[in-house]
Amino acid sequence: MIRVMAASAAALVCGCEAQEGRIAGQGERPVVAQTAPAQQLDIAFVDSDGAAFSEADKDYIRKVIAQSAQAVRRLLPDMPRNVMIDIEMVDRDLAVVGGGTGMAGAPGEVTFWVSSAYPGGVAAAADNGVRYTAFHEFHHLSRGWTVQGNSFRRGIDIAIINEGLADVFAETYSGRRSNSLDYPQEVRAWAAEILALPEDADYHHWMNEHPDGRMAIGYRTGRYVIHEAMQKSGKSILELGDVPVGEIWRLAGFDYDRPSALQSGAPE
Ligand SMILES: [Zn+2]
Repeated sequence: MIRVMAASAAALVCGCEAQEGRIAGQGERPVVAQTAPAQQLDIAFVDSDGAAFSEADKDYIRKVIAQSAQAVRRLLPDMPRNVMIDIEMVDRDLAVVGGGTGMAGAPGEVTFWVSSAYPGGVAAAADNGVRYTAFHEFHHLSRGWTVQGNSFRRGIDIAIINEGLADVFAETYSGRRSNSLDYPQEVRAWAAEILALPEDADYHHWMNEHPDGRMAIGYRTGRYVIHEAMQKSGKSILELGDVPVGEIWRLAGFDYDRPSALQSGAPE
């Protein structure tokens, strides 16, 4: 869900636009993008200590998010119609993820982080990292894979399937991809390592930064397992989204005999 950990948010300073006839007061979230009756995106901007979004930046980011949401909804009908979105500026360099990253914090809620230090500026970051991340995070919303209110059980074996589905979906449909997700020759051994982990294995170590120096093991392995499952089954990334987690592992050629990945224990 979180590919790069973000700094804490600055105060909300941009909740001041009002559209669609709604007047926004202090702390009220204005509706800033309503592109079709079927879609309502409630977008708020948060400046960093070091940089502020220009009006042109905000307009462009709204456009990128709205276009991406419409495209995802056509592909994944389970994506919620109403989405609350925070766009937060950060001053750290997010070049490794195209200048932007994000998190599906709860059902119907996404936070994006946009770098003020990205070469080409905020608009370039929006066009690259934010566009890719929108497809990735909206896939999570449609699947129920969120930090709060998660539909899935704990476990790196489950996380990497949900992240791999979101990444392959995003690189298939957003027109962007992230070189940081390329996987190494030994990736199949990484997958076996993940299958041997206890359910409470450290999420940050296995998904983001391992103490042994490996980066993004979970994301990169997830992308590999999804590619293998697609290649061996002939299923598309959209078809694979309807396949239970354990069955995706088996399609990719791994032994997997754990119970349903859903929180409820119900069949997926
Ligand atoms: Zn994710």
